[in-house]
Amino acid sequence: MRETVTLTGMVLVSSPVKEYDKRIEILTRERGRIPAFAQGARKQSSALCACTVPFTFGSFQVYEGRNAYSVKSGEIENYFGNLADDYDSLCYASYFTEVARYLTRENIRADAELLLLYITFKALQAGLVPLKLIRRIFELRIMSQQGEGPGLFSCIRCGNTDAYDVYMSEGGLICQDCAKKMPGLKQCYPLKLSHDARYTLQYIISSQPQKLYSFNVSGQVMAEIDKFMSIYIARYMPHHFNSSDFLS
Ligand SMILES: [Zn+2]
Repeated sequence: MRETVTLTGMVLVSSPVKEYDKRIEILTRERGRIPAFAQGARKQSSALCACTVPFTFGSFQVYEGRNAYSVKSGEIENYFGNLADDYDSLCYASYFTEVARYLTRENIRADAELLLLYITFKALQAGLVPLKLIRRIFELRIMSQQGEGPGLFSCIRCGNTDAYDVYMSEGGLICQDCAKKMPGLKQCYPLKLSHDARYTLQYIISSQPQKLYSFNVSGQVMAEIDKFMSIYIARYMPHHFNSSDFLS
């Protein structure tokens, strides 16, 4: 008998294999993003049918094979099925899973990434925070988790906390005194943040996970955050996510 392991995770993608099987990828807390086969999962009568649908969160009992896992059973905690009822929410959910897929690896624990994905889906479900803001919160937070976040708490050269000018090529804030000593900075994608936008970005990087989706911002701050994130992502995560074409 092969041994099974139980992993907590969320199904990111699912594709058909052979006549009745599925190949899925699960972002697991314990082993990062893993590929797994689910035999017979496309049959309506199969116990694996429901737990191998994208966005399903729960615990999965899997066999460990040489190249891939195979799913023995799954216990659904939240299947986020109603996200599919709203086209925009579905597009955003697909985008978040695509980003998570891109940034996670097999055999590297993904506690923070999985938790972020879960609470982000909860926020999508609740519908209290605008989708555009959820997107920017998710992106900034997951990039920070990967060590790719911007330095936004103080000047990255001298530590002066009175800094609002971001130079993207430098990866964060640089105060005016330091900027004067760096003549080449003008080409480094400069952007000035307002106090409120800077505070909001700091909050997204540092807040408790449970409080990430507990606020809204003015149209002005949203526009600033949008601009900041699109430039920052273009520079530090220059990858085309297919699902981003469908975001409203
Ligand atoms: Zn400085």
